[in-house]
Amino acid sequence: MRQFQDAKRQHPDALLFFRMGDFYELFYEDAVVASRALELTLTSRSKDAAGTGIPMCGVPFHAADGYITRLIRQGFSVAICDQVEDPKAAKGLVRREVTRVVTPGTLTDVAYLDARAPALLAAVLPPGKGSMTWGLAWVELSTGDFAATEFDGEAAATLLREELGVLLPREVLLPEDADLDPLRADGTPLPAVTRRERWQFSVDAAQRALTEQLQTTGLAGFGLDGHPCAIGAAGALVQYLRDTQKGDLTHVRSLAYRETRDGLIIDATTLRHLEVLASTEGDRQVSLLGVLDETVTTMGARLLRAWLTKPLVALDAIRDRLDAVEDLAFRSVERGTLRETLAQVHDVQRLVARAALGTAGPRDLVALARSLAAVPGLRETLGTLQAPRLGQLCAELDDLPALRERITATLADDPPMLARDGDVVRDGADPEVDRLRHLSRSGKGDISAMEEAERQRTGISSLKIRFNRVFGYYIEISRSNLHAVPPDYIRKQTIAGGERFITPTLKTYEEQVLHADEHLVTLEVAIFEALRREVATDAPALQRTALALATLDVLATFADGAARRNYSKPHLHDGDDLSIVEGRHPVVETMTREAFVPNDLSLDGTTQQLLVITGPNMGGKSTYLRQTALLCLMAQAGAFVPARQAKLPVVDRIYARVGAADNIARGQSTFMVEMQETASILNTATSRSLVVLDEIGRGTSTFDGLSIAWAVAEHLATSLKARPKTLFATHYHELTDLADALPGVANAHLLVREWQDQIVFLRKVVPGRSDRSYGIQVARLAGLPASVIRRAREILTGLEQDELARGGRPTIAGAATREGPQQQLGLFQVPADERLRERLREIDVNALTPLQALTILAALKDEA
Ligand code: ADP
Repeated sequence: MRQFQDAKRQHPDALLFFRMGDFYELFYEDAVVASRALELTLTSRSKDAAGTGIPMCGVPFHAADGYITRLIRQGFSVAICDQVEDPKAAKGLVRREVTRVVTPGTLTDVAYLDARAPALLAAVLPPGKGSMTWGLAWVELSTGDFAATEFDGEAAATLLREELGVLLPREVLLPEDADLDPLRADGTPLPAVTRRERWQFSVDAAQRALTEQLQTTGLAGFGLDGHPCAIGAAGALVQYLRDTQKGDLTHVRSLAYRETRDGLIIDATTLRHLEVLASTEGDRQVSLLGVLDETVTTMGARLLRAWLTKPLVALDAIRDRLDAVEDLAFRSVERGTLRETLAQVHDVQRLVARAALGTAGPRDLVALARSLAAVPGLRETLGTLQAPRLGQLCAELDDLPALRERITATLADDPPMLARDGDVVRDGADPEVDRLRHLSRSGKGDISAMEEAERQRTGISSLKIRFNRVFGYYIEISRSNLHAVPPDYIRKQTIAGGERFITPTLKTYEEQVLHADEHLVTLEVAIFEALRREVATDAPALQRTALALATLDVLATFADGAARRNYSKPHLHDGDDLSIVEGRHPVVETMTREAFVPNDLSLDGTTQQLLVITGPNMGGKSTYLRQTALLCLMAQAGAFVPARQAKLPVVDRIYARVGAADNIARGQSTFMVEMQETASILNTATSRSLVVLDEIGRGTSTFDGLSIAWAVAEHLATSLKARPKTLFATHYHELTDLADALPGVANAHLLVREWQDQIVFLRKVVPGRSDRSYGIQVARLAGLPASVIRRAREILTGLEQDELARGGRPTIAGAATREGPQQQLGLFQVPADERLRERLREIDVNALTPLQALTILAALKDEA
């Protein structure tokens, strides 16, 4: 218990798994918590000094990983306290030490990680007194990716929150006294939060920890100079890793300072509304990533995901990627060869990380060597391609022949998972291993020869020589044959069906075998661990190669998808023109049963900057909005786009907002969320941003909603600070009046045809306003009962007549509208000829007698 208390004192926040024999035991409060979380039986152990029983529960050591992962998933951390001496060699109590601390952000066990998504650990340093700068650092321990950044100015906290919303770390480190509220402001659940002592975030301590870990004298080489908050956060991260991981972390040797403006900013709300990573319902297949992710390696899958959540803004870099994709798109044979070869490559990033963390097993190293073996072939194929980016990748691919050769020469072709399971080292690789193996084998051969000889001698054909951990080798004789046992057999144990014996000769052989086996295990483990350290030393070169492999995989995947799905190369430029010819929605086009109708779009910063889009529900407004945003996103990620032609300006941010999104689960009024989201656009968009707003204002009463939608559109169209390119879909037809009043605002609508009181969606976007909203027709399509539809019509007609009688609609005070008769159109008002049409539609010509027809005609004429 003293050992337990010592270990617990060092790791008060973690559940302590204390190794005792074949079990990990938990005590006191840890036992209570873990038994509840894992549904284990809580028992109690001998009384402590105070005379009360000590609560205790335990798990078998060989099944511990599964239990640990379950605890981590529930947000706990686990400290593993192991026996660090051989129990046989120990005098008195076996020494125990905490060998590893597993936390939500540092879990690296491949069996439990999502291979195609990152698992990040982040650290946040809130602004000090008189400052507004936040520091953020994040690391992916399972690959060694390490980055930091800072957020400045009034919107800093919002930007940081948005970044966290995109990175989705599993665990966030915060100074012990930091306030959580700014991180929580929008109600999104936080990941596990771990408090760390304040000094670990101080620049001095952080600088020291970082230079030591990165093995450099200064941090300028990583772009960190002048960014004390980023340094503070990154330093705290490194110190946490050192405290929890006992290895050298040779795979964390570089740190990238990320400028916020280095990438296209897409906040978490936008990612969700555009369904980049998953559909609104949470289906990963029905998303942009789901459609585009045909990568053949898990490294490629993770990189693709990173590219889609953080596309580029540097024109040169975007063009480099696009040129590489183009080259690959046209060279289908080479592309096929590359992808086939890449498919043989394992997750080099995570294998290297495991080697550096000391958790890689023999199979991991063999997989690494096999992956490296694919590299020369890849280089050869790349050599025949032209794009400069592919040339660079070819140069970055290093197959480390010496290391590869060492692994192959040392390890068996098909070794076990764990080094201590034996048969790890290849025959002939090490003379001592060979000698011990020979000894062990010949001993075992002697034993089986002896079994045969004893059967002959005793005449007992069922005699067997067996092995167990308690007695070692023994001879087993069944009850019916006991009379034939020779006198030199020494009885050891009686069992249900017979008795167990040993003989001096058997024990001599046993000694030889066991001795050799024991030495063999120690030796094989030592040889393997030395090899693993060698791999860890080469971590930086291996990581460069891994990144090049992943990049190649993504580029080839883009090219392959483009060729098969008829995408085209977008033309990206610095100007303002955004023009798309026959654009399609990359996801909807793969899902719809009807043929997808392509649509054009043309926006610029001046004459056509904000497009008001109207049309019936289900007409295709959202799809059109989202496809535009997705095309820009894909292009800046370096992918070809689903369009016949696309000329796109480089945008700095994409915002997508959908009115009244269902956020009830997050415990906030949907309308409040909608307004917060809209506010963040009005406060942060620039003239280089792209904004798509879908039914903003829908979450409140009609007049409120209309007024807000109007004011928001007006602001986006007239603000002096920023006039982002905007698509504004709305069911408030009044907004179409904006086009007459403001330069840069134009109308477009989705075309529908009416046919026998039905509407047919043509999905075609055409200039101008749509004339009606077709709500009742859509309701009918949706299957509302005929009686309800009829009643709705009556009510609508009544409302319309009321409005007409009152002579107009409520006007929007001070709103910019065109003067003239048009202005008199009411909110619910429908022109007279429209009503006439409605009446005509209601007539069933086939059921009328000529006389009835004439009567109706006369009545209509009277009304007109
Ligand atoms: P709205 O926003 O106007 O209510 P949506 O954009 O949600 O309409 O479109 C409704 C459905 O119509 C989509 O789910 C999709 O299946 C289909 N659709 C939309 N646009 C197209 C198109 N261009 N071609 C074919 N089908 C489309």
